[in-house]
Amino acid sequence: MNGTVAFLGLGNMGGPMAANLVKAGAVVRGFDPVPDALAKAGRGGVLATTGAAAAARDADVIITMLPGGRHVLDCYAELVSRARPGTLFLDCSTIDVADARAAAALATEAGHLAVDAPVSGGVVGAAAATLTFMVGGETAAFTAAEPLLRAMGARVVHCGSSGAGQAAKICNNLILGVSMIAVSEAFVLGERLGLTHQALFDVASAASGQCWALTTNCPVPGPVPASPANRDYAGGFAAGLMLKDLGLAASAAAAQGVRTPLGRAAADLFAAFVERDGPGRDFSAIITAIREGAL
Ligand code: NAD
Repeated sequence: MNGTVAFLGLGNMGGPMAANLVKAGAVVRGFDPVPDALAKAGRGGVLATTGAAAAARDADVIITMLPGGRHVLDCYAELVSRARPGTLFLDCSTIDVADARAAAALATEAGHLAVDAPVSGGVVGAAAATLTFMVGGETAAFTAAEPLLRAMGARVVHCGSSGAGQAAKICNNLILGVSMIAVSEAFVLGERLGLTHQALFDVASAASGQCWALTTNCPVPGPVPASPANRDYAGGFAAGLMLKDLGLAASAAAAQGVRTPLGRAAADLFAAFVERDGPGRDFSAIITAIREGAL
């Protein structure tokens, strides 16, 4: 892959994603204010720089993988007037749909290309380059972004215009948050009714209760050996990130005047769980609080 990429935000996701671009042949100049993150990315071949502006100088593409919308908007505000005309701004962070559209507008009004391309697949997918990208932006911007996304992921879906990638991400995670709570409640009820985990799994996984929360990320140990429940909920998709995404879904729903009572309830339950358990364990650990009657 030809060209120079500026990569801003080299944390759990951005670090391995940037390293995969290096493997694909790109020159990657990176920046992260956390020295450890910068040093770790350096071991993956990312060239460390002293700031976002230094990383972005003469870059063909500026990729952001940042904690939230404020960070992305601040970066774009700093960089759109410094970047070469026609630079591709590619934001992979999970942020509010309205912030994604505002960031893209900043870039396109300054003569650049812009896409929002949030991901699913977590840190394992980031390292293995098996992420799914959900992309929002005009066709020319999507076409420019696609080879980079294919170097970092296994699946790339063009969802529509600016903000559509973020919309797809939060709608998907609204389903996921609600379905994980439903699967967890069913297992706890089954336990009290004398059902083994395996019996409920064998029935529901081949019946109308089938869903990813059950068959891939099963919240009880045993039926799906690779699920985080088998290692005390370490790794996986952190409950704090699920809470963030349910909050983004709730604020998008409020902005659109859409009532999402189950989504709101799921956000409240994950907020209570994170308050009690911390943000770090896999979100399927919510079953432990449901079992204890703590929510
Ligand atoms: P992280 O906190 O590990 O990394 C974010 C990095 O951004 C940090 O290292 C931070 O120092 C850096 N940063 C902050 N401000 C910056 C700036 N101005 N310039 C450069 N770097 C800056 O978070 P993460 O887990 O890598 O997640 C990044 C994004 O991906 C988030 O929006 C998250 O919601 C999303 N996401 C994460 C996962 C996951 O499993 N971790 C999965 C899907 C989506």
